[in-house]
Amino acid sequence: MASEAVKVIVRCRLMNEREKALGCKTVVSVESARGQCFLQNPAAAADEPPKEFTFDGAYNQEHNTEQIYNEIAYPLVEGVTEGCNGTIFAYGQTGSGKSFTMQGIEDPSTQKGIIPRAFEHIFESVQRAENAKFLVRVSYLEIYNEDIRDLLGADTKQKLELKQHPEKAANVKGLSLHTVHSVLECEEIMEKGWRNRAVGSTLMNKDSSRSHSILTVNMEIGKRGQDHLRAAKLNLVDLAGSERPSKTGRTAERLREAIKINLSLLVLGNVISALVDGRCEHIPYRDSKLTRLLQDSLGGNTKTLMVACLSPADNNYEESLNTLRCANCAKNIKNKPCINEDPKDAVLSEYQEEIKKLKAIPAEQMSVNNLSAAMRTENTREKTPLPEDTITAADEEPMSAQDPAATRTVQDAGGVSRESVGAEGAEGISIPADQQLARLQMLERDVVGGEEAENKDLKEKHRRRKKYAEERRLQQSNEDSMDWFLPSVYNYIQKEIRARRKLLKKKQKKLWAAEPEMRDLQSESEEEETDRFSAIHPVERELMLFEQVMNQVPSHVWRDCSYSYLEKVKHESVWDEEAGCWKVPDFVIEKTRLPSVPALPQPKPARPSPSAESRELTREEDRYELVLDRSDSETIASNYFRSTRASRILCSDPTTNQAPPGPEGARSGAAAMPQPRPQPFRLQVLPPAPPTTTTKRKKGKAGSKSRSL
Ligand code: ADP
Ligand code: MG
Repeated sequence: MASEAVKVIVRCRLMNEREKALGCKTVVSVESARGQCFLQNPAAAADEPPKEFTFDGAYNQEHNTEQIYNEIAYPLVEGVTEGCNGTIFAYGQTGSGKSFTMQGIEDPSTQKGIIPRAFEHIFESVQRAENAKFLVRVSYLEIYNEDIRDLLGADTKQKLELKQHPEKAANVKGLSLHTVHSVLECEEIMEKGWRNRAVGSTLMNKDSSRSHSILTVNMEIGKRGQDHLRAAKLNLVDLAGSERPSKTGRTAERLREAIKINLSLLVLGNVISALVDGRCEHIPYRDSKLTRLLQDSLGGNTKTLMVACLSPADNNYEESLNTLRCANCAKNIKNKPCINEDPKDAVLSEYQEEIKKLKAIPAEQMSVNNLSAAMRTENTREKTPLPEDTITAADEEPMSAQDPAATRTVQDAGGVSRESVGAEGAEGISIPADQQLARLQMLERDVVGGEEAENKDLKEKHRRRKKYAEERRLQQSNEDSMDWFLPSVYNYIQKEIRARRKLLKKKQKKLWAAEPEMRDLQSESEEEETDRFSAIHPVERELMLFEQVMNQVPSHVWRDCSYSYLEKVKHESVWDEEAGCWKVPDFVIEKTRLPSVPALPQPKPARPSPSAESRELTREEDRYELVLDRSDSETIASNYFRSTRASRILCSDPTTNQAPPGPEGARSGAAAMPQPRPQPFRLQVLPPAPPTTTTKRKKGKAGSKSRSL
């Protein structure tokens, strides 16, 4: 069984004269298209946003009851004509427009109340039906100070008892049920009940808003060709004012009244809360007569509509807020409406059965006397005032007719047996023969339906109204889905923003915590850098010193020393990974050993004869040639030294001790001396000691990889 939420609408009336005279301000506003109602707290700051409520409909003074009915009540009543229970109740503080909404006014007709509109609707459906018959009966009761009174009963002051059904809602024992055949009859009944309510109020010094009233339309539906029936109830409830006792006056009776009224409204609120809560196993229906009677309408087998009525004035802010809160809660109640098939206590099936049997009696057997008796009965019935035309069936006892014409308990009637009528097929009929026709006519009259089956205008009107309500429902459900969608998107974004804000805060905290750390690290690294620079600086300067010194050295070192050419030393130096130091080339001085000094040559005699002279010259030249040849393999340095020194030694005149002017001279001087072959010698010099600051070998560098500069 599909569940369906209780539908809730708000209706805010115009500011009344009293409120205007008091200079009240409007605190209620309505966004009808979105079903929203806003309530501004008059005590709050001007920039405080109003409280916002969303319902299945929101109406203000610009809307009339016709619109409300067509949009929201129509589908519910239509459901009743198809066999599904329905309840419409008006809730709100006294003077907020509950009776105006339920009962309404005749002029303008657009403000006709929901109750007369429901009558019209029901009878339109009944009369339009092509293949169905209906039995429509109405009851009207009032609950005042937790006492139930029958507003249509013979004695309206009589208190009626509630009879609890083990499974269903309670019934009122002895409540009169009135069969109705037309809208007019319904309206008469409504007026009568209303008058009784109003009369009651003057007699008992109360106004009608101090009591709850329930007008119930009971429908039984029988479809042609189907032997099963349907039954449905429509409860039209005008609740008492929901204001606080302090607002209703301070007399003892007023207070007692208010407490009782508030008790049933309090219980109504508790029932609504318990139903909405979902965790409550016990729903306190039995705590008040109102909730016992409305049990099926709250969480049961009924489609329910609540009309929350509001005053726009700021002096009613608290009451309006309470009404809106209650309404907001009620919209979460889930009902389980279904079509009621084959009700056990259906009267229509008995009627139809009886009609069938009465019709089976051959016409000629219904005597003229019978016919005239029937006619008499029918006339009497038409003139009979309404209370006498009632049957009290609500106590679940077999119905007993107050009007003899309405007698339907076949066995009880006695007197007329099957044999007495002598009719075949009229088995079980025990109505006196003179009443059979009247009985048949009465039954046929009570069972209504199909009178306007051919009326196309009625059909068209029904089609249009149904379509309008359906479109409204679809529009509403679209808005609902958007209402659901937008907040969910909004909520999602909000959540996302919240989560990101949290994250941002966390990161900001971390950042703040890290900032001093960063500052410390930065200053530490700056210090380290300074330290490093201050350490590097002297090393650099020392290096510069060594470089400068070293650049000076080669020019002062003998040329035959291996360290006279610094680049060569660098080139030959190899880094010893294992030892962690440079292996520099040995300090070697290559020197040319000078030959032993031969005997000084004799001064040359005066030029010899060319022959002897040329012979001697030839010998000399050969020797020099030999020396020159040998000198090819000698270094330039040794040649240089040899020739210079040789010339100095050999060619110097011992008397003048003058060196020849140049190499040529030297050469020529040297040529005079016997030239021993110069023998180079080597002077071994120890390599310089390794530096005192040992360079650490890097771990992991395998072997003694060497590299040269
Ligand atoms: P309640 O039943 O809630 O105590 P009523 O229905 O008797 O209140 O309304 C109180 C007064 O306000 C009545 O005079 C009624 O005509 C008027 N009233 C209520 N609602 C409206 C409305 N929507 N438009 C015009 N008048 C309204
Ligand atoms: Mg009222």
